[in-house]
Amino acid sequence: MSERVKPLDVYRLLPGTNCKECGYDSCMAFAYKLIQREAKLEQCKPLFTDPKYESARKKLEELLTPPVRPVVIGVGDNAVTIGGEEVMYRHELTFYNPTVFAIDVHDEMPEDELIARVKRISEFKIERVGQVYRLDAIAVRCTSGNPAKFAECVRKVVENSQLPLILCSLDPKVLEAGLEVAKERKPLIYAATKDNWKEVGKLAQKYNVPVVVSAPGDISTLKSIVRAFMKAGIKEIVLDPGTFFGEGQLADTLDIFTMIRRAAIEKGDKELGWPLLGIPAVVWAGKDGASLSEAEKIELAFMESILCSMLIERFADILIIHTLDTWSLLAPLTLRQDIYTDPRIHPAVEPGLKKLGNPNEWSPVLVTCNFAITYHLVRNDVEGKADAWLLVVDTGGINVESAVAGGTMTADSIAEAMKEAGLEKVVKHRAIIIPGLAARLKGELEDATGWDVHVGPRDSAGIPEFLRKSYWVREGVYGVKSPSENAPVVLTSSNIKEHYSLRVPLAEANVSAWIVVLGTKGKTLEEAIKDGEVSGDAVAQCLDRTGIANLVKHRKLIVSEDLKDLASDIASKTGWEVAVGPKEPEKMVDFVKNFKI
Ligand code: SF4
Repeated sequence: MSERVKPLDVYRLLPGTNCKECGYDSCMAFAYKLIQREAKLEQCKPLFTDPKYESARKKLEELLTPPVRPVVIGVGDNAVTIGGEEVMYRHELTFYNPTVFAIDVHDEMPEDELIARVKRISEFKIERVGQVYRLDAIAVRCTSGNPAKFAECVRKVVENSQLPLILCSLDPKVLEAGLEVAKERKPLIYAATKDNWKEVGKLAQKYNVPVVVSAPGDISTLKSIVRAFMKAGIKEIVLDPGTFFGEGQLADTLDIFTMIRRAAIEKGDKELGWPLLGIPAVVWAGKDGASLSEAEKIELAFMESILCSMLIERFADILIIHTLDTWSLLAPLTLRQDIYTDPRIHPAVEPGLKKLGNPNEWSPVLVTCNFAITYHLVRNDVEGKADAWLLVVDTGGINVESAVAGGTMTADSIAEAMKEAGLEKVVKHRAIIIPGLAARLKGELEDATGWDVHVGPRDSAGIPEFLRKSYWVREGVYGVKSPSENAPVVLTSSNIKEHYSLRVPLAEANVSAWIVVLGTKGKTLEEAIKDGEVSGDAVAQCLDRTGIANLVKHRKLIVSEDLKDLASDIASKTGWEVAVGPKEPEKMVDFVKNFKI
């Protein structure tokens, strides 16, 4: 296998002056960036302006050219690069340029049908785990054999889409007619064959466009045309070794694709070191679309989907596809996304505080990691079902379970993320929900932040139900500002808003107190009273369960005005003196502050 270029190999050929014109501190740093393909050789201006570096520059250009040379189709933001690969298998390094999907149209389509199809191709969009799938190019086929008709068709496509184009005809006159219309778009021309290669090669040179060399099943002819083109100075070539479909032929197709890629990467065969074009649309060859039944169309689209996927697996850099059905394109698009994800980088999202729906100052705060798949799962599971804040902790793109085990999600890292997000100012409560898979961090996180930590479900699909059925303050005693045995005792419900409306302002006003939470399962006192769930007995049992009597010397209980009518019942059942304070939390803070034990 050809050796990968090392930074030192590159560094030796750079000027070595560390002048920083490239934007990096040293020539060595620039060499590293070149190897990673994060910088372009042109950034080193001395190499291109000082004649004494000319020979080194040429060597560098050669050295940095990957075994499968890149080819650019189109211009501007819509241009696509194909090829540029260095390895046979992604795990050896990474793949750089995802397979381009080009959908076909032809010049005998009725105008309205053509324009509608072009628009559908251009607007096609599917979102999956935060990435948007689109189709990349349009292949305009000449079926009429008429240059003027083809040119008119190309003109309509150009007027209705910004996507890169492939102009398809074996007749150089037809290709030239299309090129005259679309030359500013730098289309790929298809194809030079053993019969027309001289004329088509001249077109590629005249219009400075990439060209497909097609020799189905004949590598020797393919190589000899490529050799002639390279000798003539044609700089961008794409190989079409033939896409055969049918009994026994599929294996041949995949073998030829593999053989060519192996020759380029492992044997350094420069004539085969160009991107590969596959044509899954061959499954439709010879079929008259209008006379096909629905069942036949589905069967062909299904076969085309499989062929697309197999060709992506076997190194195809660009595909010409006929089917425009989402269901048929979904599998190959998903496969492409998976294969072309850089294995050196964990798919991650930006950490920080995100909105799920339209959260407000009382909405729950959920914690998750910044592994892209987890993040998007949580988002998909919650959005539309609940409004919440999502605190995304930087775990280096690692999922929750591994991040907790590996120490990239800790109580400290969550506390730090809470601080960075300014969570105390975003919400008025002090409750945070950690994933079930991070349950072991609960105690430490409570100690580190003073917030109440709730353990959510292990599976994010359970979050909406958890929020509806389990997200409230637990029954118990909560101390505010290290209360003493003489501090006042206040009763609240377990409703998040009602509870923290009192607890947070008390803490901010520096008032020491004990808060006893009555288990109302998230209901406010008013709601629980209305449902007949609050009584002297219920409060007496709550005081017993919480053990508040062991924490204070006095027996005085402050309740809000909601419990005014139950005050004497509570007093008689608990044996505590009951003081009725105001309903409004702000006034209650003053009431507690000035309360005399
Ligand atoms: S511009 Fe060229 S010579 Fe200057 S530091 Fe960068 S690599 Fe070195």
